[in-house]
Amino acid sequence: MSVIGTGYLGATHAACLAELGFEVVGVDHDHRKVARLNEGAAPFAEPGLDDLLARHVGTGRLRFTTEVADAAMSADVHFLCVGTPQSALGRSADLGAVFAAARDLARHLTRDCVVVGKSTVPVGTAERVARELERFAPPGVETVLAWNPEFLREGHAVLDTLHPDRLVLGVDTPDAELVLRGVYADAIARGVPVHVTDLATAELAKVAANAFLATKISFINAMADISDRSGADVVALADILGDDSRIGRRFLDAGVGFGGGCLPKDLRALSARAEELGAAQVSGLLREVDEINLRARSKVVDLALELCGGDLGARRVAVLGAAFKPLSDDVRDSPALDVALQVHRRGAEVRVFDPEAALNARSVAPELTYVASLEHALRGADLVLHLTEWPEFLETDPRWAAGLVARPVIIDGRNKLDLDGWTRAGWTIQAIGRPRRR
Ligand code: NAD
Repeated sequence: MSVIGTGYLGATHAACLAELGFEVVGVDHDHRKVARLNEGAAPFAEPGLDDLLARHVGTGRLRFTTEVADAAMSADVHFLCVGTPQSALGRSADLGAVFAAARDLARHLTRDCVVVGKSTVPVGTAERVARELERFAPPGVETVLAWNPEFLREGHAVLDTLHPDRLVLGVDTPDAELVLRGVYADAIARGVPVHVTDLATAELAKVAANAFLATKISFINAMADISDRSGADVVALADILGDDSRIGRRFLDAGVGFGGGCLPKDLRALSARAEELGAAQVSGLLREVDEINLRARSKVVDLALELCGGDLGARRVAVLGAAFKPLSDDVRDSPALDVALQVHRRGAEVRVFDPEAALNARSVAPELTYVASLEHALRGADLVLHLTEWPEFLETDPRWAAGLVARPVIIDGRNKLDLDGWTRAGWTIQAIGRPRRR
C-alpha cells in the first residue's frame, strides 16, 4: 500500500497500516520530513506515533520516499493524504495538492489499482479526481477511486486510527468496497460501524461532522456571551445541557474557541461550497459560526484590556499555551497564538510558554517571546492568560503561581481551572461566560 502525503494524517495512517500488518510506502515531496520518518521519528508531536514508526521502519515493513514512481510501482492501493488548506484567495479549499498528487501518481502507474482519497475535500471533488486519474493513467491501466474520510483527532491520532468510532467507505464499485473492507478488517471484526455510501456522501460526511462540532462550540460561546450579560454561569449551563442525552456534554466548553488545521478551514470550505451550490442558508449559518468563533478570541483581548485598566502598553502578560489544543505541537490557526499576537500588538510585553509547540509557534509568530518554563512565563506578570489546557497548567499550584506574578490576575480562556482553588490562593480569576471571582 502507499500513502501519499505524510503530514499529521498520512504519517499516522501509514504507521497504523504497518501496525495492522501491511507493507507500506509513504510518499512526500518534503525531503526533510521523509528523512526524519525514515529514521523512525515523527516530524511533529503525536503521542504513540514515534513508537509505531520506529518499530515498523525497523522491521522494513514501513518506508518513506520522495519518489511517487516508487509507490506507483510497488503498491496497488494508494491513499491520498495531502493537505487541503484554505485557499489564499478566499474561504474555499485549495485543492492544488490533491489534483497534483493524483496526476503524479497516475502518470507513473504500471498496473491497475485502487486510489483512496482520505484528505478532507469539498463535495464533488472525488468526481474530478477520478477524471484526472483516468486522463493521466497510461493506456490499459485501470484506476478505481474511493473516498474514505478520516476523523482522527490530533493528540489522539494513533488511537483514533486504530480504534475509529465509525468507518465511512465512499465507493461506487463492489471491488473498491471489498478492498477497503480488507484494509479495515480488524476494526470491522471488532464491530466498528461501517457506512458504505456513495463518494459525494462520504466527502460531505467529513466536512459536515466538522461543521457540526464547530457549531456546537460556537453555540456555547454564544451562550457564554448571554451569560456574561445576564449574570448566568455558562459552565453550569453546559453541564445542564450536557446531561440531556440528545445533546451531550462534549464540545460544550465555552472559551477562546476552536482552531487548528481542520475545523476553521473545513467550516469555511463548506460554507464556500454551499454558496457555489446555491445553498445560501447553509453558507450563512456557517459564516455566523465562524464569526462567533473569531469573536471569542477578541473577547479575551477585551477582557485583558479591561483587567489592565484599558491599556496593555508595557504590561507584562504571561500566555500559557501556543498549540491549538493540548498534546499537540500544531499551531495552525491557533486561538492561543492569535490572542497572544493581538495582545502583543496592543503594546503588552508577552511571554509565551508551551510545553511542545514553541518551535512551531516561533516560526509563524517570531515577534513573540517564548520562554522555556511556566515559571519563567509567570515571573513578574501583570496578567496571565490560560489559552491551551495542557495538563501541567491544570495541575499548577495557584499558591506557587501567585508567589511568582506581579499581580495575581488570570483569564481562563478554556474554562478548565478550579475557580475555588485559584480564588482561595488570592487570584482574581475571569473565566469565559462566568461571573468574575476574586
Ligand atoms: P499536513 O500539511 O500536515 O500534511 C500534508 C502533507 O502532504 C505535507 O507533508 C506535504 O508535504 C504533502 N504533500 C503535498 N502535496 C504533495 C504531493 N503532491 N505529493 C506528495 N506529498 C505532498 O496536513 P494534514 O493535517 O496531514 O492534513 C491532510 C489532509 O487530511 C487534509 O485534507 C486535512 O483536512 C485532513 N485531515 C487532517 C486531520 C488532522 O487532524 N490533521 C484529521 C482528519 C483529516
